Amino acid sequence: MNITQKPCPHLRTGRGTYKPELVVIHIMDGSLAGTDAWFNNPTSQVSAHYGIGKNGEVHQYVKETDQAWHAGVVSNPTFKLYKGANVNPNLYTIGIEHEGEPLKNDVWPDAMKKASAELVAEICKRWNIPVDRDHIIGHYQVRSTKPNCPAINKGVIDEIVAMANAIVNPAPAATAATPAASVRLVDDNGTVYMVAGTKDVRVVRIADWDTKVALFGDAAIEKGSVKDLPKPKVVGQGLTIN
Ligand SMILES: [Zn+2]
Repeated sequence: MNITQKPCPHLRTGRGTYKPELVVIHIMDGSLAGTDAWFNNPTSQVSAHYGIGKNGEVHQYVKETDQAWHAGVVSNPTFKLYKGANVNPNLYTIGIEHEGEPLKNDVWPDAMKKASAELVAEICKRWNIPVDRDHIIGHYQVRSTKPNCPAINKGVIDEIVAMANAIVNPAPAATAATPAASVRLVDDNGTVYMVAGTKDVRVVRIADWDTKVALFGDAAIEKGSVKDLPKPKVVGQGLTIN
């Protein structure tokens, strides 16, 4: 995906003995441009690895191999994979900011959710992180004093997780139904014969039943040509087509 590099000085180099294990979703409480500036403002002392605009634009501020300053303050943590008070969450998380202000408009545009899901998917593949709600968390789960980060409606996190999961673990492509124990034949009159245990008719493959095209042995047979089958004898359910 297209990522614009916006290096920011607010980071700690390296991750010690840790590596990214979770992704923390944030809201900027402002604009993407404002965040670009804020992360470079010495008074802020905050940063994140990425920021995503409402239009889907992605900025990277800190390398994933370094610690950004996005989740270091912990209060009443509720996320499952918390490592305890002695390990700063910045050591084992990647932070993604999103453009917007929840108290003014809690709706996340599709372009922003789509870019976020693509980025989360890439991160999860890169670091072998499972794409689920235990590993993709909201900042509010780290810091209870940020109850609206990333949103009032926490469903946006679920949406991003679902979209990212669809990228990382796509559903298997629909495959043509392969008759295992039964084979369907259609004769001149459109009569459908369900047959099983065929011995004399070897079905190599059946392509596109809707147009009644099938391959028997080496011969391509269309509907209406069943009679021309060589040895069109079907055994199994007492049916014989000839
Ligand atoms: Zn946050």
